[in-house]
Amino acid sequence: MVFTLTARWIFPVSGPPLERGTITIDGERIVAVEPHGRRTPDEDCGNAAIIPGLVNAHTHLDLSGARGQLPPTDADHFPDWLRQVIAYRRTRTPQQVAADIRAGLAECLRFGTTLVGDISADGTAWPILSAAPVRAVVFRELLGLTDERAWHAWATADEWLRHHPPTATCRPGLSPHAPYSARATLFDWVARTPLVATHLAESPAEMELLRFHRGPLVAFLQELGVWDADGLTTWEKLLTEPPSAGRYLFAHANYLPLAWAERFTHRHSIVYCPRTHAAFRHPPHPFRQWCARGVRVCLGTDSLASNPDLDLLAEARWVRQSYPDCPGELVLRMATLAGAQALGWADACGSLEVGKSADLVVVPLPNADAADPHELLLRAEGAAERRTLFRGVWR
Ligand SMILES: [Zn+2]
Repeated sequence: MVFTLTARWIFPVSGPPLERGTITIDGERIVAVEPHGRRTPDEDCGNAAIIPGLVNAHTHLDLSGARGQLPPTDADHFPDWLRQVIAYRRTRTPQQVAADIRAGLAECLRFGTTLVGDISADGTAWPILSAAPVRAVVFRELLGLTDERAWHAWATADEWLRHHPPTATCRPGLSPHAPYSARATLFDWVARTPLVATHLAESPAEMELLRFHRGPLVAFLQELGVWDADGLTTWEKLLTEPPSAGRYLFAHANYLPLAWAERFTHRHSIVYCPRTHAAFRHPPHPFRQWCARGVRVCLGTDSLASNPDLDLLAEARWVRQSYPDCPGELVLRMATLAGAQALGWADACGSLEVGKSADLVVVPLPNADAADPHELLLRAEGAAERRTLFRGVWR
């Protein structure tokens, strides 16, 4: 079935916005993206923007039950927040965790997310995400700083990978949790796999630990009985020995020195989680400086344990409003195509281009004018009435 949509603005992201342009879909693919006047639309979405499906490159759906319960600390007390997360996780039954993942997924879908990079303890999200109308990379989390725990984490992850081959919409990845909680050998092992995500340079405590093997994370890890200084990687090593073939997503990178930009390749990406970053009161994130150095930066929500909702467009709007000098075009790219590239899905989605999957969101626009149409999209508020087309079908 072939049909053509129009709206006040179409944002292909791979090209300039098209005022009253059209997008034509045949089955699950985009077959034309054209300026106004070339084709008669079957449906007019009115005063709205048609944008590529949103890409949430970093979240933890299994923490969706924690909304509002684990108030973020300031940046210097980050280990205290980790303590809260661990205590919270211990209260959840497997049934509750599965329900939490479903609830988080429903929220992602409602806001127009069509591709999600989900960090999943035990890989629990796989059966849920792989059956849902969404694309996903399920990153199974690996924890273990001591030799014994690292071996166990690797053995179970390796087994999990073998039993979870990619599907049409869902791909498996691995996620050593962070350099303070995953042994150096785990980072070496995952480097052989195609899709990897880790938290990196998130807090001052992490920087102190990796540089000097001291600071508040030592006591935190000792309390848990998992401290082993010999297990620590260095974060120089993480980037000087880049993965041979895989995609590597670094969540946060709040304190990563900019000089390291030269070590990034097109396979490396930084995932900036704007409202979570602000909630922890870190210094301003240097995402603009990374972008200026040619490093790909995409957006994530992180989890509901630190974020008010899972609305990726709200992250983009927050960035635009907090950094007025940052071009709207760049912000929209960070929310869509950059995330698809980071997650290895850009051949299929992330922009409105002929041959790609018809994954798009219709976002109502305000009754106002703006010299740059990105302003209309990014200055608007609220999440009402978004409609999402996924693989050519209204979701
Ligand atoms: Zn995270």
